[in-house]
Amino acid sequence: MKNNSDYIINYQALKLGHTFYNYDVNDDFMHDYNPDFIALKDLSMHISIDLLKEETSAQLFINLTGSYYVECDRCLHDLKIDVSEDNYLIFREGNGEDDETITYISPNTNFINLQPFIYDFIALSIPMRHVHDDEANCDQEMIKKLKEYLIEE
Ligand SMILES: [Zn+2]
Repeated sequence: MKNNSDYIINYQALKLGHTFYNYDVNDDFMHDYNPDFIALKDLSMHISIDLLKEETSAQLFINLTGSYYVECDRCLHDLKIDVSEDNYLIFREGNGEDDETITYISPNTNFINLQPFIYDFIALSIPMRHVHDDEANCDQEMIKKLKEYLIEE
């Protein structure tokens, strides 16, 4: 587990061109940022970041590869989610409306903390609907119980 400070980059000190960052994060990373976060467990994620510093901005190409477990919407048992995705961020000097991609920063910005951005990418990687591919892979006891319950309703 890394210290929180490991996610803080020294923007002013960055040389123009590419700088690479690699992180391995687990559940502690998510809980550390948001103690109420319970949407996933057994997180094992590798984050590789290729930061391209330009005169007045930094572009970040971010790859997430790993897995975690969520609760199956159908049977409430563990469901493994494999993640392999690329994301993109820009830190741009100046004023403007931030959006999902662009974050505006003061030209005097010294440090940028990547932790909230990594947290968001992991949280957003959870599929809206997550169920075992086939109902046959679900926990059959639980399916039976849930069906009984639904009939009683
Ligand atoms: Zn299931």
